[in-house]
Amino acid sequence: METVFIGFGSNVGDRVDLCSRAVTLLRLLPRSQVTHVSPLYETEPVDDGAHPGSGWFLNGVLQIATALPPRHLLSILREIEQALGRDQDNRSGPRTMDLDILFYGNRSIHEPDLIVPHPRLHRRRFVLMPLSEIAPLWIHPVNQCSMRQLLAEVDDPAEVRRLSPQPSFISDPYSPQHHGSNS
Ligand code: ADP
Ligand code: MG
Repeated sequence: METVFIGFGSNVGDRVDLCSRAVTLLRLLPRSQVTHVSPLYETEPVDDGAHPGSGWFLNGVLQIATALPPRHLLSILREIEQALGRDQDNRSGPRTMDLDILFYGNRSIHEPDLIVPHPRLHRRRFVLMPLSEIAPLWIHPVNQCSMRQLLAEVDDPAEVRRLSPQPSFISDPYSPQHHGSNS
C-alpha cells in the first residue's frame, strides 16, 4: 500500500454537495482506504494558466492508503470528475470538481499527462493549508521540506479561509457541532 494525497476543489454549482459526493466516491475506490479528510477551505480563484472564472473554490485534501497504480488511480479520478459534471470540453474553465494527485508515496513521476508530486502544490496556499492540517510532517520528496515548512514559507497572496461551520461530512474537532464519535 502507498500513502497518496488527493486534492479536490469545486468552484461552480453546489460546492459543498459536490465535495461531499467526491469524498463519498473516493471512499469507494477499489484496493484503497481513505485515512484522512481535511476540513474545507474557501479560496480565491487564481489565474495561473487556467481560467476558472470568478467563483471562489472550496478546496480540501484527502489521504488514502492504496494499492492502485498511479495511472489507474488517475483514470478513476477522471471518471469521478466526469460523473460530477466536469466540462471536458473546457477543462480549464469553471469546474464542478477537480481532482489532482498531489503525492504518490515518495515517487516522482514525469509523464505527459501525469506529474507527481503535483508541480504547483508547493506554491499554493489552498493546497498547503489542508495538507498541513492532516499531514504536517509529511516530507515533499523533491525539496525535502515538510508541509508545515512549505506553508510557513509559501509566497501566495491568494486568500484562503477555513469554511465555518464545516459541513457534517467533515468531522471537525474545532466545530461546536462536533460531540465526539457517537454524534
Ligand atoms: P488543473 O488541475 O491543473 O487545473 P486539469 O484538471 O484540467 O488542470 O488537468 C490537466 C491535466 O493535468 C490532466 O489532463 C491530467 O492528465 C494532468 N495531470 C498531470 N499531473 C497530474 C496530477 N498529478 N494529478 C492530476 N492530473 C494531472
Ligand atoms: Mg486537475
